[in-house]
Amino acid sequence: MSDNFLPFALPCLGEEEINEVVDTLRSGWLTTGPKTKRFEEDFAKFVGQPYALAVNSCTAGLHLALEAIGIRAGDKVITTPYTFTATAEVIRYLGADPLFVDIDPKTFNIDTHKLATTLDNVDGVKAILPVHFGGQACEMDPILDLAARASIKIVEDAAHALPTYYKGRMIGNFGDISVYSFYVTKTVATGEGGMIVTANPDYAERIRTMRLHGINRDIFNRASSNLLGWSYEVVAPGFKYNMTDIAAALGIHQLQKANTFLQRRADIAAQYTQGLSDLPVRTPYLNPYSTHAWHLYVIQLELEELTLDRNTFTERMNAAGIGTSVHFIPLHLQRYWRDRYGFKPEDFPVALDVYQRVVSLPIYPSMSDADIARVISTIRKILIEAQK
Ligand SMILES: *Cc1c(COP(=O)(O)O)cnc(C)c1O
Repeated sequence: MSDNFLPFALPCLGEEEINEVVDTLRSGWLTTGPKTKRFEEDFAKFVGQPYALAVNSCTAGLHLALEAIGIRAGDKVITTPYTFTATAEVIRYLGADPLFVDIDPKTFNIDTHKLATTLDNVDGVKAILPVHFGGQACEMDPILDLAARASIKIVEDAAHALPTYYKGRMIGNFGDISVYSFYVTKTVATGEGGMIVTANPDYAERIRTMRLHGINRDIFNRASSNLLGWSYEVVAPGFKYNMTDIAAALGIHQLQKANTFLQRRADIAAQYTQGLSDLPVRTPYLNPYSTHAWHLYVIQLELEELTLDRNTFTERMNAAGIGTSVHFIPLHLQRYWRDRYGFKPEDFPVALDVYQRVVSLPIYPSMSDADIARVISTIRKILIEAQK
C-alpha cells in the first residue's frame, strides 16, 4: 500500500469527540453512566421514540431485541441472506432458525412478494428481521401489513439506516424494535456500539434488565442511590452488553453531526453517479419511497459487457491505491449456514447474481473532492480498458 492509499472507510472524529472522551477519562466514570444516559436521551429525541437503550454492539442489540419479543428454540425468524452474519447469528443464539427470503434485485432489500409467499407456506414464523440495505428503507408498508396479518413481530436491523426516512417517517418508528450500529465503519461511529429503539415499555424494561446480567437496576442508579447502594436483584441470566461512557462520549457528538455527515455522503454519491453514468456499471437504484443514508455506495458491474470479473476489478482498484469492499457475501454461501441448512448457491438466485457484480466504493465525510475524482477516474480507466 502506498502512502496515498485511499481507505474504504474512515471514521470522522473532531475535537468535540476528543474533548468529550478526555472529559470522561478525567471524570473517572468509564463504564455505563452519565454520558450513556445523555446519549440515550439524545438518540430517543433524534428518532422520536420514547425508549433508546445503548448497548456495546448492534449484534448485542439484535440479540436482546429477539429475546425481548420472546423468540425461543425452534421458532423461525425471517430475514435475507444478503446481510452480515450478525443479523442471522442472533437468531441462532436463541436456538431459533433464520428463514431466508431472497432480495429485490434493485434495492437488495427483502422481496416482499416472496415474503408473502413464505408466510403463506411456512408454519412457526415468529418474527421478521428486515435489513435496510446500504441505507435505503425496506418496503415497510407491505412488511407491516404482512406481519399484522400473521400476528408476528418486526425487529429491524437498522445498522445502515441512520438516518433514513420511509414515506417521510424516520426508520425506528415502524417495527416493534429497531437496532442501530455504531461500528467504526457505520454512519455514526463509536468504535463499537449499538442502540435499541422501541415504543414498547415492556420490551424496554426487559432489554434494560437483560443487557446487564439480568440485574433490575443499572450501575448508575445503584451508585447514585443512597439507600442500600450496594443492593441489587438478579432476575434472569442476562448478558454483559452495556455501553461504556467512553463510547457514549463519541456517540453524543457523532449523533449531532449525523445530518451534516449525510449531506457530504449524499454529495459524494451524486458525484459518483454522475461520473460513472456512461460506463458499463449500474449505479445505485433510488427507491422513491425512501431516502438514502448512504452508508454504502454500491455499483454493479455489467459483467456481460466486460472482459473482467468483480474480483479482478477490486484487485485493480487496490493496485491503484483505492480500497473497496463487497456487501455482502450472501450467508447461504458461507460454510456454517450452507452446511447447517444444506443450501445450494442457486437457492437464492437474486442474492447470488447481485453478489457477483457488486463493489462498494469509499464514501465518508472526510473524503476530498480530489479523492472522489480519483476514484471516478480510476474506475473509468479500468472499465474502459475492459469493455468488450
Ligand atoms: C455492521 C452490521 C451489523 C452488526 O453491527 P455491530 O455493531 O458490529 O454488531 C449488523 N447488521 C448489519 C447489516 C451490519 O452491517
